[in-house]
Amino acid sequence: MSDTLQLERSTIAFGNAGPQTRIAADLRAAGLRPTRQRVALASILFGSGHRHIAAEGLHEEAVAADVPVSLATIYNTLHQFTDAGLLRQVAVEGARTYFDTNVSDHHHFFVEGENRLIDVESPIDIDNIPAPPPGMEVTSVEVIVRLRRKPA
Ligand SMILES: [Zn+2]
Repeated sequence: MSDTLQLERSTIAFGNAGPQTRIAADLRAAGLRPTRQRVALASILFGSGHRHIAAEGLHEEAVAADVPVSLATIYNTLHQFTDAGLLRQVAVEGARTYFDTNVSDHHHFFVEGENRLIDVESPIDIDNIPAPPPGMEVTSVEVIVRLRRKPA
């Protein structure tokens, strides 16, 4: 499969050239070379408003959108985007990390059993943060409020 064919396919999958050009510019502004793969993944990630997505979920969407990419590349790209400030990591449980396209400071609801994160829109009062160990300072406090559906 030629590069040209692949490029045409992803252009078709993600609409006209306008958003692609803008995404390439955004990647460049974040210090990342806008490779075809990064632009394609960024289109999926940032193309439909703020969202929380795990690497596996992004991989599934990439495959569905005809973007040929391995899960390892997805992980690398997500971490590169995070390091560049385009994404924020939200660790919910040991094995599962979500990537958040909303990089502002905010807290989350986590819906147990549905593996779904929802932004908390209102501020949360946090009193009595313990003093950090000597030589350390607090950089941020992230609250995850865990939810489950009420029994019917
Ligand atoms: Zn969020």
